[in-house]
Amino acid sequence: MSEGNKLFSDLSLNSWIIRQCASIGVKHPTPIQFNCIPEILKGRNVIGTAKTGSGKTLSFALPILQRLCEDPYGIFALVLTPTRELAYQVADQFTVVGQPMNLKHCVIVGGMDMVTQGQELAKKPHIVLATPGRLADHIESCNTFNFDNIKFLVLDEADRLLGGQFDEQIKTIFKSLPKLKQTLFFSATITETLEKLKETIGNDVFVYEAPAEV
Ligand code: ADP
Ligand code: MG
Repeated sequence: MSEGNKLFSDLSLNSWIIRQCASIGVKHPTPIQFNCIPEILKGRNVIGTAKTGSGKTLSFALPILQRLCEDPYGIFALVLTPTRELAYQVADQFTVVGQPMNLKHCVIVGGMDMVTQGQELAKKPHIVLATPGRLADHIESCNTFNFDNIKFLVLDEADRLLGGQFDEQIKTIFKSLPKLKQTLFFSATITETLEKLKETIGNDVFVYEAPAEV
């Protein structure tokens, strides 16, 4: 699934990130990684679509970790996923690559104790990975944290997050975020809602759609 002989070192990623990737057998970027990582590092908003298993997680995790190690202050990135399992899976990939910088993260999903989660958020983890329902509950009910320093908002499986089911919670979350940030949408399919977002997301958005397979 990787992009032939292309290398992560062609993508202006720091050597420590490339080393971490190599240690888990990730040596050649997949097409979505090769196309999206440089754009994210340039500061652009990105909508990236490619089928399941094409490496979307590292497409956003690697550039976020690179920017984070330059300026590790406050809650730096928020990653939303439609399910608890996905939140944990994405957290695992961040943890493995972010290990050399002592990455602090926090998973905010339903079924866990609200008070403990509030305390975790108060410790200003670098990355918050959350499902919309539980995160919206925290925003509405507690004041242990704020998102003033958020530099990245990621919607992983954006087609599912924006399918209608989470509209209220997403609205609550978006209102709590600073205006100035990079927004990254990743999805297996490009839906009508995502198409419309191209216009609302801001004027500098890079759209990558994996070519259909023959
Ligand atoms: P998607 O979100 O597109 O469904 P994931 O990001 O979950 O896919 O990646 C699927 C699997 O592929 C993960 O186990 C991940 O570690 C692995 N992977 C990601 N990028 C690469 C790569 N460049 N080379 C080899 N394996 C990779
Ligand atoms: Mg994924």
